[in-house]
Amino acid sequence: MSDWTATIDALIDYLSYQQECGVRMIPLDIAALRALDAPLPRPTATATPATHSTTDSSPVTTTTGDTSSRHDRLAKIAIQAASCELCPLWQGRTCSVPGQGNPNSPDIMFVGDSPAAADNQSGNAFVDKDGDLLNKMIKAMGYTRDDIFLTNVCKCYGPNGRRPKLNEMRACLPYLISQIDIINPKVIIALGADAAMGLTNAQNSTGLAKLRGQWTRLGSTPLIFTYHPKNKLMALPPAKREAWHDLKKVLALLRRPLPPRT
Ligand code: SF4
Repeated sequence: MSDWTATIDALIDYLSYQQECGVRMIPLDIAALRALDAPLPRPTATATPATHSTTDSSPVTTTTGDTSSRHDRLAKIAIQAASCELCPLWQGRTCSVPGQGNPNSPDIMFVGDSPAAADNQSGNAFVDKDGDLLNKMIKAMGYTRDDIFLTNVCKCYGPNGRRPKLNEMRACLPYLISQIDIINPKVIIALGADAAMGLTNAQNSTGLAKLRGQWTRLGSTPLIFTYHPKNKLMALPPAKREAWHDLKKVLALLRRPLPPRT
């Protein structure tokens, strides 16, 4: 079975399931639409075969070095996540939320823990009021949402907005690792303690208070930890100052001038 045949079978299963649930509209981001519009690539002898199934330990089947564009490869991950049942979070999913933004080696990829309720409805990351605060952080750094990439460790919404569990983040992490491999951001900013735990695969149990503002690496990509905009501390000036201090470290690493304060 070819790589694409497995993906299309998964898509058909997913759409059939949604139809049985009464869903009549599936939101698709621009990357997914482009991928659906593109001719299917012919399988080659060197292509890596699909390995995704609900029993696999690794959900992601991206192929490095193939001829697919970044958009196609990201769309493929989005399609896989949309039908994924590798952890219990799929049960609360209306839309999977693979993330959105600039996929072409952006300066920054922001990574939260899991989608919010509004994200679950729209299929886009950080579209609720926490996203408004994140917008301010992005703007203060001199960027727009279109300049950077936004995603989460988990691609599905937790029941009643609960925090993702470690095993759920572990199950979903391969999707993110593949996205990072494709997108190739210059810096990753982890938002909040849960994202920090998910990204370090719980190798750090020191908590955000100690991790915040610290540099490490995820593979070869510099990774820094700061507050999630949903953290209630972010309403307080001291935490805002600390978060801005973290973001200035990122700008310094990227050799970007501090934008004028408005
Ligand atoms: S959160 Fe990730 S691993 Fe869990 S069901 Fe959704 S896509 Fe699959």
